[in-house]
Amino acid sequence: MRVRTSHLRRTAWSALSLTLLAGCATEREAAPPPLAPNRVVVDLSNETIDALAERVAAQVAAQVAAQAAPQPGSVAGIEVGNAGPRNEAGRPTATVAGRAVAPALRASPPPGVFVKPPHVEASAAIAEATAAVDAACEWLVAHQSEDGGWHPDTFTTRCPGVPCEGRGASAYAPGVTGLAVTALLRATPTFEANPRRDAILAGLRYLRGLQDSEGCIGPRISSHFQYNHACASLALVEAAARGAGASADIRESAQHAVDFVLRSQNPYLGWRYGVRDGDNDTSMTCWMVRVLAAARDAGLRVDDNAWRGALAWVDKMTEPEFGRVGYQRRGGPTARPIETLERFPPELSEAMTAAGLLVREVCGQTVADNEFARKGADLVLSRPPTWDVEHGTNDFYYWELGTDALRRADAPRWAVWRSALHGAVTLRQHREDSHAHGSWDALDAWSNEGGRLYATATLCLALENVVSTR
Ligand SMILES: [Zn+2]
Repeated sequence: MRVRTSHLRRTAWSALSLTLLAGCATEREAAPPPLAPNRVVVDLSNETIDALAERVAAQVAAQVAAQAAPQPGSVAGIEVGNAGPRNEAGRPTATVAGRAVAPALRASPPPGVFVKPPHVEASAAIAEATAAVDAACEWLVAHQSEDGGWHPDTFTTRCPGVPCEGRGASAYAPGVTGLAVTALLRATPTFEANPRRDAILAGLRYLRGLQDSEGCIGPRISSHFQYNHACASLALVEAAARGAGASADIRESAQHAVDFVLRSQNPYLGWRYGVRDGDNDTSMTCWMVRVLAAARDAGLRVDDNAWRGALAWVDKMTEPEFGRVGYQRRGGPTARPIETLERFPPELSEAMTAAGLLVREVCGQTVADNEFARKGADLVLSRPPTWDVEHGTNDFYYWELGTDALRRADAPRWAVWRSALHGAVTLRQHREDSHAHGSWDALDAWSNEGGRLYATATLCLALENVVSTR
């Protein structure tokens, strides 16, 4: 095994190419296969081209060295140049192509490096997502509790034999129930045609039973009670839109829940954990905007000032050069529970940028006509879903938000994100013959809270975006 740098020419901002040839016993093979479609687009915004070339070369060399039995042409060549398109800041981007390069970089992309996922045809992505959604819904129904709710801590009571793994915290039952009901509702175009009507109605009864006199769903004992309320409200609103159950009752509960969302908003800004207490964050604001958008679609009453306040908060949190949206600080990192901060580093996620983009889109801004929506979409796309627990990239909450945001962006960006989602989510679902069939392992930044129920409902919701675009 040897790695040889056969050609290296450097001129600042002029064409530079770097070719690595992986020598191996099968060099006699006359012609290596053509370059694979794995093309790695490298954003050179933050470093010189020389530094980048050295780093890419080192990574590829390490990857080749790690291969026990390299295939001919497995490292066919790398080209780094400035002939490619320019990014939003007018800086050059470069393309790295090579069969073995993309996997190496994808596992742990350096900051600023965008590893484009292998393309998956839309028809294949949709067909497999459809099957995955169906399996996920079956698993969810099999883990519903007798009271109609989904309980992160006790969902395994009906598991035969070895129970499913991945318990979460009991406090999130209202929110996780909301996610599960919404996932079941969205799996079928109409409520009448939904084969899981009974489970949905039981879930809705459970949620309505938790609603207090002000419309808030779930007890206000946890500091995160507004997440419970938002997720539960979304289920009620979407059920109302579909005329589920005794629709007058459902609509009344849904409107009551929406009224509590409106009452909780800070004047001219967003939301956080309290009721109009002056505290705001991008995550909670995005979730409340999702509820209000669904309410608008369902014909429920929504105050137009709500959109203006949410947009004002997102604008305040948007850093203008690259469009990154912060959690509570302009351009700052996304949020993480303290216990998973090291295992799932926040810098590997663009969750808040996705949340900000989604707020902009719901409020009518598009990547075609809004600079910050466009920059945000590109930043989100630079962190596509990648299932890699070792490197800490798993963030199901982010992937679901990003999916909702990117499907609204435009077709080219959506195609790239959908391909990544296919590899990271569809292909990671448990499909073996076990009770976990149809679920996903609770392995991400938020799984300590919501457990396997959260993981499965959230990723099912993400895939439903793929199915609904057929
Ligand atoms: Zn089970």
